Amino acid sequence: MQPDDFAPGTVWLVGAGPGDPELLTMKAVRLIDRADIVFYDALVGDGVLALIPAGTEMVGVGKRSGRHSKDQRTIDAMLVEAAAAGKRVVRLKGGDPSIFGRSTEELSALREAGYDVRICPGITTACAAAASAGISLTLRGVARDVRFVTAHSKRGAALDIDWSSLAEGGSTLAFYMGRDAAGEIMRGLMRGGMRGDIPVMIACHVSGPDERRLATRLDLLELATRSFAADAPTLILVGEAVDQGTSELAISEAHARQMHG
Ligand code: SAH
Repeated sequence: MQPDDFAPGTVWLVGAGPGDPELLTMKAVRLIDRADIVFYDALVGDGVLALIPAGTEMVGVGKRSGRHSKDQRTIDAMLVEAAAAGKRVVRLKGGDPSIFGRSTEELSALREAGYDVRICPGITTACAAAASAGISLTLRGVARDVRFVTAHSKRGAALDIDWSSLAEGGSTLAFYMGRDAAGEIMRGLMRGGMRGDIPVMIACHVSGPDERRLATRLDLLELATRSFAADAPTLILVGEAVDQGTSELAISEAHARQMHG
C-alpha cells in the first residue's frame, strides 16, 4: 500500500487486463476503489466495471479499433479537465496501457498541463491468450522473441509492416486489431517467406466467459478468421511456439477443402 500516491488531481492510467477481473493487479483494484471518476474503454470487461464502487463517476470513452466514439484529443481534454477539478482520476484501459493503448497522447497532455500522471501495468492480451491455451510465447531454441504487432491501418490503407522481418522465423508474433486484416497478414507473411503450415491461434474475448480459440495454420488464417464475429476483440498468434496449445477446434486442410465446397 502506498496511501499517498493518489492525491486529488492525480491521474492513473490503469491496465484492466483482457477481461477477467481476477487478472487485475491488487494495485489496480485499490486505485479503482479510491477514484472519484473512472474513464473506461469499450474493451474493459463488465466484471472489471462491476468493481467500480457505486457513487464513483463513470465515463465510457468507447475506444475500439477503427471506431473511436470519442477522438483521442477529446479524451485527453476530458482527463485534463477532471484533474483540474481536483478529482482522483482512473483511466482504465484494456490489457496493458503500454501496448497499443494511445497512452503517450494522454501522458503528454496531462504532463504538459502540469498534472501528476502515473501508470499501473496490466496483463496484455497476448499473455492472457497464451495462458488460456496452456502455451508459452517463448520456446527455447524455437521462439527467441515475441513481437507485438498492430494490424490496424487507416481506413483503406495497406498495413505498414515489414513482412520479411516478421517472416524470418524464431519469433512468436502477436497481432492486435488484426481480425479484418487476417488475409493481408497471411499473404504478407507468406510473401515474406513464412511457410503455410506455421501454427496459428486465433483467440477472441480472451479470459472472458465468451472466449473462443481456434488452432489453425498460416495458409488457412483468412478462412479461419471468418468464423469470428466482426466486432469481437480478436488476437492472432503466429509461430512455431503456438503449436503446443489446447484450443478447442482445429481447422485441418481437409476441413478447409470441405468448407470451400
Ligand atoms: N492494450 C491492449 C490492446 C489494445 S488494442 C492489451 O494490452 O491487450 C485492441 C486490440 O487488443 C483488439 O483489437 C484485440 O486485438 C486485442 N484485445 C484486447 N482485448 C482482447 C480480448 N479480451 N480478447 C482478444 N483480443 C483482445
